[in-house]
Amino acid sequence: MFNKLKKAFSTFIERASRVLTSKKDLEDALEDLKYSLIESDVAFEVVEEIADSVWKSVCEGIVRDRRGLVKLMKDLVKGVFQKTPSIDIVDEAYKFKPYKIVFLGVNGVGKTTTIAKIAMMYYEKGFKPLMVAADTFRAGAQEQLRIHGERTGLPVFMGKYGADPAATAYDAVAYASKRGYDVVLIDTAGRMHVDVDLVDELKKIVRVIKPHRKILVVDALTGNDAIEQARFFNDAVSVDAVIVTKVDAYERGGVPLSIAYILGKPIIYVGVGQGYKDIKPFDVDEYISKIIPSE
Ligand code: GDP
Repeated sequence: MFNKLKKAFSTFIERASRVLTSKKDLEDALEDLKYSLIESDVAFEVVEEIADSVWKSVCEGIVRDRRGLVKLMKDLVKGVFQKTPSIDIVDEAYKFKPYKIVFLGVNGVGKTTTIAKIAMMYYEKGFKPLMVAADTFRAGAQEQLRIHGERTGLPVFMGKYGADPAATAYDAVAYASKRGYDVVLIDTAGRMHVDVDLVDELKKIVRVIKPHRKILVVDALTGNDAIEQARFFNDAVSVDAVIVTKVDAYERGGVPLSIAYILGKPIIYVGVGQGYKDIKPFDVDEYISKIIPSE
């Protein structure tokens, strides 16, 4: 997990700590660092900030050795995540009934599986969750959620094929309120991300449902695409938080850092496998320990 990013940071730290007194050598090392960070899915803006900070800190004598470099890297990465608000969708679910989450994301990223994982998590914590298939234009999407419902034994509200997605979501919330469901997890369409109709559809769902949270699901393995999708959905409906899937198979490592930096929104969970329990809260310290060597 995240090995490529770890290699980028550790190679740089070992090399740079030997040449801190030579501006020219440090510059070369920083150029290589930038290149290897970009290859590890770290967005250009983040790469520039890291490189600038290292350069400044060394020039100003704030960083003088390997230890200082390691600390600086850790602080920089941690700082990105500290700027994002903390959101706890379990705590929040105690405060509203029903607690409504709209899930956003492009088809294939693992969105329906993630919804089922979150439904299971709620169920195991004693909540009564309802999954809602509001992608009414794609029979496959509804079918996918129905199958997750069958496998988890948890209920799915199916919209009529071709019905208005916002109306379907609205009906689902009304149904949930009447039947005493605690949490409503709404799946939305995720066709091609450059799609004006999709933006209108999502905006309408958000307007009608007034969800407590809008959570974007992205697939780490898609790298830059995941980062572009984050920008797209955030511009469209303002995302509250992000779940990154497939990190169990993800070596490049930079997607969580890049998305947190670009959106300023928290990564709340990561998907770590195909099973319904394969999801865990995103832990910043654990992430840092996996990508930056210890002092
Ligand atoms: P959707 O079209 O976005 O709803 O995508 P699906 O939920 O159908 O997921 C697509 C594929 O990704 C399926 O084979 C899932 O089992 C797989 N998947 C989803 N999340 C994860 C994850 O965290 N790790 C791994 N390894 N596979 C995942």
